[in-house]
Amino acid sequence: MVNPMENPRVREEMKKAMIKPLNDKSKVKKVIGIVSGKGGVGKSLVTGLSAVSASRAGYKTAIMDADITGPSIPKMFGVHQKAEIKTGEIYPLVTNSGIEIISLNLLTDNETDPVIWRGPIIGGVVSQFWTDVVWGDIDVMFIDMPPGTGDVALTVFQSIPLDGIIVVTSPQDLVSMIVMKAINMAEMMDIPVLGIVENMSYLECPSCQEKIEIFGPSRASEVAHQNKTVVLDRIPIDPDYAHLTDQGLIEFYLTDAMKGIPDLIKELMEKNE
Ligand code: ADP
Repeated sequence: MVNPMENPRVREEMKKAMIKPLNDKSKVKKVIGIVSGKGGVGKSLVTGLSAVSASRAGYKTAIMDADITGPSIPKMFGVHQKAEIKTGEIYPLVTNSGIEIISLNLLTDNETDPVIWRGPIIGGVVSQFWTDVVWGDIDVMFIDMPPGTGDVALTVFQSIPLDGIIVVTSPQDLVSMIVMKAINMAEMMDIPVLGIVENMSYLECPSCQEKIEIFGPSRASEVAHQNKTVVLDRIPIDPDYAHLTDQGLIEFYLTDAMKGIPDLIKELMEKNE
């Protein structure tokens, strides 16, 4: 029997049918998902640093924290107020440097309450972040995706029109199949992989500035090449990152991390002209 999903036209129609409409008071030009094969590799940090890089370059920037069970974006930016909800519409909060953010933590009474919902409910909440949040005019939105390649990640992939994804990995993940799984999932859904970020890639010696690859030589370029994509950045282990994310001060840190983001956005914008 012929599998209708093998027909590109059917696949495209299916894809369109599952995309949820954006809130009608909002316009979002580009949407980039930040994904990882598993939790704890620095996906939220890379989301935050990417948004800071875009915002510093003058792009009107937003972050949707879709990592519902481990939301860490508001804390990283020192935002603790509650989001306003008026007649079914949710208003995002704005960080010190003007980045709009929404996260479950900005909607629940207690930031420390664990989220014990099952996948379909979480998927529904994330869709609402797209349909019910009044984002206004946004040039680029970064989505801190649920970790892994499970059903929650799949729902986000299906319900929000992503222009591309950035895959965040640790050096150890590059040796395993975890990264390939994330890349394959995006490819199966026809979402472009914009590149790989190797986080905790090396340690810089504070006295001699030598880069020490404590997990062995990096395999980032090799894995990127195998998957027909590029290495966007290699981010060192830096105790300041951990400290500043805890203190809510990430947007004030002067770092080169994710400095290629403005060019990447420009490229995405030019593609549609
Ligand atoms: P994920 O979103 O993948 O679960 P996070 O971005 O929340 O991971 O990072 C997990 C923890 O590791 C956080 O406390 C973060 O500050 C810390 N961390 C991430 N990357 C680095 C790094 N390069 N150097 C130091 N600490 C880091």
